[in-house]
Amino acid sequence: MQIKKFPKKILTRIPPYTIKKPRGTRDFSPREMEKREYVEDSIIGVIESYSYRKILTPTFEHAELFQLKSGKEIEEHMYVFEDKSGRRLSLRPEATASVCRMFAEELRGSRLPLKLYYSCPMFRYERPQMGRYREFWQLGIELIGPKGPESDAEVIAIAYKSLKKLGLKFQLEIGHLGILRGLMDALDVDEEIQNMVIASIDRGDLKNLKKLIDKQILFDLMGIKGDKGIIEQADNLLDKYPEARKSVNELREVIHWLDLMNVEYKIDLGIARGLEYYTGTVFEIRVPGLGAQDQICGGGRYDDLIELFSGVKVPAVGFAFGFDRIMKAIDLQEIKIPRKVTDVVIAPVSDTVREEAVKIASQLRDELSVDMDLMNRKLEKILEYAGDIGARYTIIVGPEDLKKREVTIRNMESGKQKRIRIENLREEMIK
Ligand code: AMP
Repeated sequence: MQIKKFPKKILTRIPPYTIKKPRGTRDFSPREMEKREYVEDSIIGVIESYSYRKILTPTFEHAELFQLKSGKEIEEHMYVFEDKSGRRLSLRPEATASVCRMFAEELRGSRLPLKLYYSCPMFRYERPQMGRYREFWQLGIELIGPKGPESDAEVIAIAYKSLKKLGLKFQLEIGHLGILRGLMDALDVDEEIQNMVIASIDRGDLKNLKKLIDKQILFDLMGIKGDKGIIEQADNLLDKYPEARKSVNELREVIHWLDLMNVEYKIDLGIARGLEYYTGTVFEIRVPGLGAQDQICGGGRYDDLIELFSGVKVPAVGFAFGFDRIMKAIDLQEIKIPRKVTDVVIAPVSDTVREEAVKIASQLRDELSVDMDLMNRKLEKILEYAGDIGARYTIIVGPEDLKKREVTIRNMESGKQKRIRIENLREEMIK
């Protein structure tokens, strides 16, 4: 394969080169990363409290992995490329297909249930807009093995509790694809059309939906939204469709468990989810006020996907948080995230004490975060800097003090200073 050469122009241009980041990608400042890591740790804390363990799959996979079942929506937006040996690869647009592939390839013999989570970037060649990026992060879980409604409820509860812990206001809506599919099976709609119907419902494309199917009962079903009482409405509407009613019953059981777990939700039988592999319970979480891209989480049960790769039927259920949208929601709702503090800035007053100052810094770093002046600034400037970064203390190392094996500690909040012997410094600072 021929590798494209850079256009000559760029090589002959004179620095500084103005090279921007690719469209749909972002840089994250230290403060943004601090916030993202705080939120990630908080969510992972909930996930691990349910005994889920972290995995990582490759950043790129064979493109066909996602073409098999992830659905048109995903397929159209894949970053596909050919490697030097002509393999068709794709940057991962989502993780569930990879997790199923990993199950078949690596985890097949594992004791079930497998409780897995991941947190990594995904790539979709979409039109960038507010809340929609080409590189974005998903944090998700997959529960492999259990089939019962209690396991659907556990997965939903994890999403719910993770967001509650952060103090977010959001809406959780639950539906069931078995109801829609059961009805369409009974109406003799073939699988390909069913997938198109589901994709149209997911996009809210009513015009296309009407072209695909003209059964009023489907539209009536999609319109059922509200508190759990409305499940009876669905049951009545579907009295001639026993398969679809079985799924209504399953949904009823999921809700029973959710009530027990103190999870608040709404029912929405119009939830379809764009990914083709969902077979049962599906759910979405929205944050009002986030604009067009207000969905921060999507998930559901996918009982047939693992079989596609492993040949054995293993049921599974999971969800993915749109991590970037959670961060947007946190900003929108003005949820405060603590800053990481630098405990100490070390200020050597002159070059002669620099070596001793470095020794003090490395000793304190066993327990504290310590910033040593590396710019050879004057004391006044170092104190200004320590104030700016929010350091709690500055330790001033001066030649006269050093002769007595002493340093001066300045409390940056009160401005009070005191002298202390170096041998007592560690104890003083960590008390
Ligand atoms: P999906 O894998 O399409 O079900 O998406 C799961 C979640 O990922 C969605 O609820 C969104 O919050 C988030 N998401 C999907 N696509 C993007 C994107 N292009 N940019 C940012 N977040 C996204």
